Amino acid sequence: MIKIEGAVKRYMSGKQGAVTALDGVDLVLPDRGMVFIVGKSGSGKSTLLNVLGLLDGLDGGEMYVDGKAVKEFTAREADAYRSGYVGFVFQEFNLLENDTVRRNIEYATDLIGEKQSAEKTEELLAKVGLEGLGERKAKALSGGQRQRVAIARAAVKEPKLLLCDEPTGALDSATGKDIFLLLKELSKRSLVVVVTHDEEAAEEYGDRVIGIKDGKICSDTGAEEAEQAPTRAYAQKGGHISARSALHLGAGYLRMRPVRLAITLLLCFISFVLMGFSDAVASYDKNEAARLSMTAHGTKYLRVHKDIYTGEQFGGVDHFIEGDFEILKEKVGASRIDPIYREGAFDGRICVMDYMANGDELLSLARALSGFIEIDEDFLADYNFSLMEGSCLPQGEYEIVIDEYLYDEYVRMGFKNADGECVTIRSSADLIGRQFVSLDDKTYTIVGILDTGFDFEYYEEIMEERWEQPEGHLGELNSYPSEFSADSDIYTSLQRVAFVADGYFDDYIRKPNMKDDDIEIKSVLIPYNAGKGTLDALTFYVEGGSAYFIVELPSGRVMYNFANAITEDLRLAEARFLERAHIARYISYLFLFFSVLLIFHYFSGTVVDKKKEVGVLRALGASKRDIFSVYLAGNLLLAAIMIGMAYIGTGICIFLLEYMLRNLYALIVRFIVFGLRQFLLIAAVAIVSVALGVAVPAWRVLRKRPVDMMRDE
Ligand code: ADP
Ligand code: MG
Repeated sequence: MIKIEGAVKRYMSGKQGAVTALDGVDLVLPDRGMVFIVGKSGSGKSTLLNVLGLLDGLDGGEMYVDGKAVKEFTAREADAYRSGYVGFVFQEFNLLENDTVRRNIEYATDLIGEKQSAEKTEELLAKVGLEGLGERKAKALSGGQRQRVAIARAAVKEPKLLLCDEPTGALDSATGKDIFLLLKELSKRSLVVVVTHDEEAAEEYGDRVIGIKDGKICSDTGAEEAEQAPTRAYAQKGGHISARSALHLGAGYLRMRPVRLAITLLLCFISFVLMGFSDAVASYDKNEAARLSMTAHGTKYLRVHKDIYTGEQFGGVDHFIEGDFEILKEKVGASRIDPIYREGAFDGRICVMDYMANGDELLSLARALSGFIEIDEDFLADYNFSLMEGSCLPQGEYEIVIDEYLYDEYVRMGFKNADGECVTIRSSADLIGRQFVSLDDKTYTIVGILDTGFDFEYYEEIMEERWEQPEGHLGELNSYPSEFSADSDIYTSLQRVAFVADGYFDDYIRKPNMKDDDIEIKSVLIPYNAGKGTLDALTFYVEGGSAYFIVELPSGRVMYNFANAITEDLRLAEARFLERAHIARYISYLFLFFSVLLIFHYFSGTVVDKKKEVGVLRALGASKRDIFSVYLAGNLLLAAIMIGMAYIGTGICIFLLEYMLRNLYALIVRFIVFGLRQFLLIAAVAIVSVALGVAVPAWRVLRKRPVDMMRDE
């Protein structure tokens, strides 16, 4: 039973100043029957009804529900009252227009925590004359039909109190009559309060008619004795919008502003991809990249130099001594070590440049042979090297084998014999058998050409460009444009090394009283049979254009380093792309800033657009939490879409970068795109920005009373 005592309600309106909509209303309503409230427009009827439905609050006086003062209701109790105790029927129907009839009814049952079976809904629809229209969209119905849906929505909860605000106001009189009959039927089991200015209808259908004028009750055909209502605890009956309904409603909101949504998504997509991309690139492992690339590139050897640690830093090339070989074998895992001796006949004494027919000093990388390696069958096998057609292994003091790069220079420039005769070199056979004379007048015969696996094909384009440079444009080796990473490959390869007979050093170079330190070994060759050798386990560090590994010894630290095309290419790729990937991050911050603004704008828009609908849901008893869950459902959906798109986008970008690095630099760089880190990063940013984007505007809307939300502005 509902009781109102001395109810006062004032409104502040811009033009008229304070308006007293209810001015001391006392009213006791029975538990059953049909009560009409009649009066002129502006007399306060709707205000009274909204107060009865807890859509609006009082400024003075008190209202009691089953003996409990409304003032003492918690937010939960108020929601439960709206959802379970009362049913509302509005003049303007207030249906969720984009939803089906069935869904409109389900929202109401959700909110009282009941599951409505399809048959029951059908039964109810039949009762209000809407059989078979359950799946029809509300907006596709006529006014009379819509009002029937509104009544069904209110009646489905079997409320104790059915409040109808001019339910026939928007309908023609014949339809209006049907509606009154329907309400009359319902009033047999519960109290139906109908606001109307149709006094005839009130006389005809009403069990009691209350007249209202200027916010005061002016007539009442059946004022009951204000009997003392039994005081009993107010029974809560409440539910929540189901997850399915929330998702449905939330997703519906996403469809509202497609263009704005598309722009928001696009901006978010760009910023998230940039962020994921730069993060993935920043966290790549360059040592792993070098290793993978060397394996893919078919690197056969490392030409290793040695640096000594001077206490604070590494510096100065040091010579290899006997102890180093042990270290390289045991600690580094080199399967064999071949010293490159600088001592002896070859250290600058054979100037190969002098034998080039069209010798352009600047074009040739080879000038003089600067060291030698002893080779034999095992050497070829262990390094997977081969001799070119017509070659023999060197024997004795005056036979040498040269490498394929030097051979290539002779092919390009022609060979000039010691007597000045120039010959064109077309095949290995053209060069084999020709002779060099050293500065100390000893004659050496080329007996073979060693194929060391120099990747001519990979460098073809760059090489051609180099050979086509006009004279004088090529500076020293190191000042050549850094594109020419082949330089590094050549420089650190074997093109100025003479390959000589096994035992050459002992047989022809070593002097009787030579100490270890006198044997000048500035670099050694070790095989890099990736996937086969123990070197696979070696941890090396790529820095600048070279790589190094450090061995800790009781006597101190020794650093061994090497450089080749891969380490050089990695340096270039880093300088051009990888190290600059962080720029993408900063750009992403900028995009992110605009995305957040757009998200904010977008959601404020949907929240405001949906204010009326949210007001209806609140009037049906949806709690603020329910409304948040509706928004959250739509937004989580949006966040999921964003995360998914960004993830795929990042993957594609990384794939393209890997592809480019592979084709431009022969680098196999693996970025762990699908790592948890990038996923969490993107997910966190997406969820936080979406949540923020909705929380603020939703909070602003939800502060309002349901009645204000429903009013169109
Ligand atoms: P009725 O439903 O009888 O036509 P209402 O209850 O809607 O009348 O309004 C009673 C008075 O209160 C009117 O003068 C109306 O202008 C005023 N009023 C109602 N709601 C508001 C509001 N939200 N803001 C300002 N004035 C209002
Ligand atoms: Mg009204």
